[in-house]
Amino acid sequence: MLEMKDICKVYRTDLVQTHALRDFSLSVQEGEFVTITGPSGCGKTTFLNIAGLLETYSSGSYQLDGVEVSQLNDFKRARLRNEKIGFIFQSFNLMPDLNLFDNVDVPLRYRGLKAAERKPLIEKALESVGLTGRMKHLPSQLSGGQQQRVAIARALVGSPRFLLADEPTGNLDSNTARGVMELLQEINEEGTTIVMVTHDQELARESRRNIHILDGQIHEENGRGQMSSSASAVA
Ligand code: ADP
Repeated sequence: MLEMKDICKVYRTDLVQTHALRDFSLSVQEGEFVTITGPSGCGKTTFLNIAGLLETYSSGSYQLDGVEVSQLNDFKRARLRNEKIGFIFQSFNLMPDLNLFDNVDVPLRYRGLKAAERKPLIEKALESVGLTGRMKHLPSQLSGGQQQRVAIARALVGSPRFLLADEPTGNLDSNTARGVMELLQEINEEGTTIVMVTHDQELARESRRNIHILDGQIHEENGRGQMSSSASAVA
């Protein structure tokens, strides 16, 4: 579903050119759970931003579900992103003044759905992350792990096929991180493709497929993500 071929991304300033990605080629199949590792500055965020249609690239080709992304105008790109991709970030990125219900509502509002259509979707997403009883709470009234669960509910509410996670457990203690990882594994087993950047070597080792990036290129790849049996039943 994600097919990158020879992607290059060059950042140019007056003084320097930085090659954030060089001839980067990666194919991710539906149902995979892929972890991405590599030292700071190697290009992980650039890759995620390009994969998530948040950033353009200098050369190469990127197809998402067979659609060549570079051919899309801003409007079509934003619509494809909203329909197909959910994001989870290390710092949760919740809106502090909105309660949990309204936070999860944000991506649905962009879709132009009516309030009565959105409500059951929001309730289902919050239920799936175990936060049904707290819909009126503000993010500040929750623990870090709970806030990340809200962010996961927000990412999932539009039923994206593809979840991109940037260090989702980076701000969590190890027990809480494990709970969030188990939730992500369940989500993957239900059919959502996940690509996750992590610094956690243990998580990367446990992953079915780990891609290690160095200097903007894939340096090493371990394993091959399989579509799990439950995922293939859904797909
Ligand atoms: P990582 O996420 O692995 O830490 P990044 O993808 O953020 O790496 O960055 C890759 C390289 O691109 C780094 O050398 C970084 O300094 C550079 N870079 C990232 N964003 C920009 C930008 N907006 N302008 C200039 N250089 C950038």
